[in-house]
Amino acid sequence: SVAHTSKVEANGCNNTHVNDNMFDKESPQDLLEARRQLPVYMVKKRLLEEIKKNNTMILIGETGSGKTTQIPQLIHEQRIEGAGTIAITQPRRVAAITIALRVAAEMNTEVGSIVGYSVRFEDVTSPRTKVKYLTDGMLLREATLDPLLKKYSIIILDEAHERTVSTDVLFGIVKLAQKERNEEKMNPLKLIIMSATMDVDAFRKYFNNCPVIYLEGRTYPVTIYHSKMKQDDYQYAAVCTIFQLHATTPANHDFLVFLTGQEEIETVMYNIKQIAKEATGPPIRVCPLYAGLPAAKQLQVWRVVPPGTRKIILATNIAEASVTIPRIKCVIDTGVVKERTWCGSTGAERLMVRPCSQAAGWQRAGRAGRTAPGLAYRLYTAADFKARHYHHTPEIVRCPLASTLLLLIAAGAEPTTFPLIDAPPPDTVKASLLLLKELGAIDNDTNPKLTVLGKKMSMFPIDPKYSKILLSATEYSCLDEALSLVAVLSSQNLFHTPVYKRAEALTAKQKFLSPLGDHITLLNVFKAFCKAPLKKQWCRENYLNHKNLTYACEVRQQLLAICQKLNMNVSSCGQAYEQLLKCLLCGLFTNCAWLRGVGAGGRYVTAGGTAAGLHPSGSLHTVRPLPPALLYTELLQTNRCYMLTVSAIQPQWLHQVAPEYARRCRANR
Ligand code: ADP
Ligand code: MG
Repeated sequence: SVAHTSKVEANGCNNTHVNDNMFDKESPQDLLEARRQLPVYMVKKRLLEEIKKNNTMILIGETGSGKTTQIPQLIHEQRIEGAGTIAITQPRRVAAITIALRVAAEMNTEVGSIVGYSVRFEDVTSPRTKVKYLTDGMLLREATLDPLLKKYSIIILDEAHERTVSTDVLFGIVKLAQKERNEEKMNPLKLIIMSATMDVDAFRKYFNNCPVIYLEGRTYPVTIYHSKMKQDDYQYAAVCTIFQLHATTPANHDFLVFLTGQEEIETVMYNIKQIAKEATGPPIRVCPLYAGLPAAKQLQVWRVVPPGTRKIILATNIAEASVTIPRIKCVIDTGVVKERTWCGSTGAERLMVRPCSQAAGWQRAGRAGRTAPGLAYRLYTAADFKARHYHHTPEIVRCPLASTLLLLIAAGAEPTTFPLIDAPPPDTVKASLLLLKELGAIDNDTNPKLTVLGKKMSMFPIDPKYSKILLSATEYSCLDEALSLVAVLSSQNLFHTPVYKRAEALTAKQKFLSPLGDHITLLNVFKAFCKAPLKKQWCRENYLNHKNLTYACEVRQQLLAICQKLNMNVSSCGQAYEQLLKCLLCGLFTNCAWLRGVGAGGRYVTAGGTAAGLHPSGSLHTVRPLPPALLYTELLQTNRCYMLTVSAIQPQWLHQVAPEYARRCRANR
């Protein structure tokens, strides 16, 4: 059991009328009623005046006050955008989609007409679209084609506190665009920076002391409990806490549990369902919420459950601020988040589960106080909380920048003088430029210009490592296969491995398995899927994810269209997979690991000097003898460091396909 202690009161309260049913009804009239209750409506008139008056402003308001869904509508009702379009950025793809769907429903229209969204590989807009939700990455990509972003008259950069690399870079892009459009007497650009909590001073200074508007929040007190002792296994602690609370709390109190990713959510979901069969307490409905979840399943979170049933939502930090979930009474906060980091000297990236910031902790707890006073259980100690940083470090400070720098250079910006709120470490910039140079995208790494290859690379909406693979494929006569693989790697997990049918799923996987590794295995799955006549049924029989495979097909189509525009020859390497693996290495040369030691003592060490294991879910897990060298797609650091999506390669290939890097690597070792 997990003992909790030390009550802390969070958030001051100013209670107003609560309409607990406001999410159950769906008619536009009812929706309007619900919207009128939102805090933004209380200050609608003043807000619109300020928006008309100011060219740049910062808007701060509690999660759920109606910033994201209402403000674009209010602006549009007044036609403040004029002939232009309103863009609203979101750091997460899933948020952009669900919010656009919600706003379309509120405006009693179809998504894709007046309201639309644009996320990577999916553009649901039309020439009529006036309110466009898009990921920050998409707007950044649009800026490479039009750095002045002329089609937008208003750009709202939402969730500014997330400080994703794309949003951070966009701050600079829109600031420069606004200035230039103003100087050139073009159509003016209005900027609104929105967030729940953020470092206001830094932002204000960056945007030339622009006005800051605070929305009066409507939150209720949340009582916070910390765990008495350090928890070694937060998943286990979460399940224990859920059932402790489940036995003692009324059924109409919904729970929200913060976890780090899809697999973890699926495991916890399975455990809850198993234990629920025996546990005392009301019936349970478990709803997952993570980025890769199909939209229809995401909407479950907002769906009403039968009276007397408890809803337990298992979410990633997407539920922290990007989407608002009603009726949460208890928040269970594991205190961790999955973050991407990288090693500058080698360019190797990894995903890590790490403690989240204090700000994130407050945000998570705050989710329990949206419609009534609530409770938050932190599965970590008060001392642990106190020792954490207040704000999390902006992504730009800890992330690889090759992809972003390529876009910046393509947009005509000068990477070293570009205005940023927080500058990335000079070493990261240097290493990223070096990587771009080794990929052949830029001519030099001091005053870089795009090469012909780099220009082509910037046309693909994918990481430069992947576009390099595609652009190398003609040389290895394997563009057909490379397109399929890059499409698969750009989508989510193809395998559907329900925890309760693990053995069956593994048996089904056997027939696709390649001794060469996961990449060819994935290719086998994709090829078989394309040939299968009854795809849905075939996926079910083979424990494959139909939605993700369909998505990969669409992605492939779009990548193929770009290749065709570039007059590339789509040839196949047939069974000569060595060609394909060498081609993969052309883009992923920073992702090699070498076998050290022999026999049972053999271990892999990456170019970054990290000892990394083969993940049990991979095709090479049981292959013996261990291959002398591996190519991995991702490193995942949990308690251990794992290589994900791995193929066996010959050590000398690295020297053949990326001699410059191979030399650098050897010098480092
Ligand atoms: P903010 O951006 O200030 O955090 P939002 O505009 O996202 O607030 O949300 C405003 C309100 O709309 C919230 O109370 C939320 O519960 C509701 N809402 C948002 N999306 C949905 C949805 N998909 N289904 C039902 N209600 C939603
Ligand atoms: Mg919002």
